[in-house]
Amino acid sequence: MIITFKKDAPVKEIQELVSILENSGIKIADASSENLGLFGLIGDTSVVDIDKIQAYSWVIEVTRITVPYKKASRQFHPMDTIVDVCGIKIGGSEKVVIIGGPCSVESVEQIDEIAQGVKAAGAVLLRGGAYKPRTSPYVFQGLETEGINILKKAKSKYGLPIVSEIMSVEKIDEFVENVDVIQIGARNMQNFDLLKKVGKTNKPILLKRGLSNTIQEWLMSAEYILANGNPNVILCERGIRTFETLTRNTLDLSVISIVKKLSHLPIVIDPSHATGHWELVETISLASIVAGCDGLIVEVHNNPEKALSDGQQSLKIEKFKTLVEKSRKLAQFIGRDI
Ligand code: PEP
Ligand code: MN
Repeated sequence: MIITFKKDAPVKEIQELVSILENSGIKIADASSENLGLFGLIGDTSVVDIDKIQAYSWVIEVTRITVPYKKASRQFHPMDTIVDVCGIKIGGSEKVVIIGGPCSVESVEQIDEIAQGVKAAGAVLLRGGAYKPRTSPYVFQGLETEGINILKKAKSKYGLPIVSEIMSVEKIDEFVENVDVIQIGARNMQNFDLLKKVGKTNKPILLKRGLSNTIQEWLMSAEYILANGNPNVILCERGIRTFETLTRNTLDLSVISIVKKLSHLPIVIDPSHATGHWELVETISLASIVAGCDGLIVEVHNNPEKALSDGQQSLKIEKFKTLVEKSRKLAQFIGRDI
């Protein structure tokens, strides 16, 4: 980190800043010239609060050289992180992991039919929301604990580990005990209390990108989980809000290469929420595989017309099967597998 400042700065205030920085373990290299004050900060600058430095009226600029998300950054962790979910490896360059299932858990029969279908199609994990973050309080909110129990039944019948979204810190114990991957939804990406709490567990966490968050903000949220001791973070891009209204969200596929460059964490794409239309799911999924994603999380329903949430973007089981077949061929063509 570099601080530039005016040469007529009050010496007492400079000394104050220097001692604050030194007390937090930072070494200062003074490279000031006749006209400009310049300090190079050496050490772990992720602990430095830039806003506090900028609050000194004589500071001209504070520039970060290293990223503020030390633990999530590839700079300090060059090897890919591989998250192990009940023996299924997510990350690394070998496999593209396919996760399928409905937006919401609705009944035993619905999950049974979908779990059987996605398993036969080649999915290795089952998704399903039991606690649903809905825009309207008047629509289906999820089966809650009953939904988790339905997923568990399907897990033991079909051998598919389960992914489900947590919405509040009070449910941590329920999720740790029953769910294999805890999903943090887009709306909770910056629920820092929740991030800290899941960071204290060692469960795999699927961290979705927030509705309108930058990649850096998303990586900082991952940093919360890592900094609290949980290394098992899987990033999930589900599109962001833009001025475009023809799709539910906008998926910028360059995000995969950017994240791979900046971070060692695996990245999974959610083509369902990214587009909001079942017809767009296949092409976006295939394009994401070519772009280098580590997995896909796809909404699948046995009866989308009757789905209690997100039927418009859910694939029928047959369509999902075709998607997995094409994904496999494509993955093999680029030297990977599913
Ligand atoms: C979901 O996965 O069903 C969901 C609500 O997704 P998101 O948080 O990405 O909107
Ligand atoms: Mn959904």
